[in-house]
Amino acid sequence: MIERELRETVARLHGELTRYGLVAWTAGNVSARVPGRDLMIIKPSGVDYDDLSADNMVLCDLDGVPVEGDLSPSSDTAAHAYVYRAMPEVGGVVHTHSTYATAWAARGESIPCWLTAQADEFGGEIPVGPFALIGGDDIGKGIVSTLTGHRSPAVLMRNHGVFTIGRTARAAVKAAVMCEDVARTAHLARALGQPVPMAQADIDALYDRYQNVYGQRPAPATTT
Ligand SMILES: [Zn+2]
Repeated sequence: MIERELRETVARLHGELTRYGLVAWTAGNVSARVPGRDLMIIKPSGVDYDDLSADNMVLCDLDGVPVEGDLSPSSDTAAHAYVYRAMPEVGGVVHTHSTYATAWAARGESIPCWLTAQADEFGGEIPVGPFALIGGDDIGKGIVSTLTGHRSPAVLMRNHGVFTIGRTARAAVKAAVMCEDVARTAHLARALGQPVPMAQADIDALYDRYQNVYGQRPAPATTT
């Protein structure tokens, strides 16, 4: 039952990637951990967003190996699986090549915290992770090494794109949407001048309020 609901949730959340303009063609994916089991649900590889449904989501073990059905999982499955193995608190992972955030990744440049909305969601800069080729554990290792102990739920993998994490798949999708939003504003601000730095104490206060008062109520029982 939980697995069925998660399949529906993960399929539906892919609609947010297109709604917010974070993806081109099929290049972006959402996954969710199946709570209490060493399993995850992820987008099938190369299937159009319009054709995604609960039934064609792929159930995999945490080595990224499908455990049922005959569809191949996303080519980014190894990276998602590595994150779930290494970060037990993570319940959802998202990957996009959203334009403005990926432009920062192309320069290998973290996004400085120039906006209150960024302080709220990311608690400071959005960091850059290492360059890594797809196919093994290198992308996953880069995500985990960059985000472990970091406030940000988003990492800009160098020359590649965005990976976000969350307690749920929905939280990870939200982080992906917010990452692109602040990346675009930061890009525009710097294009026309020198953005004004924020005091660390103000960033800390905003982050604390948003995470503990505004944002962080107990996780709902569902994984939506
Ligand atoms: Zn990618």
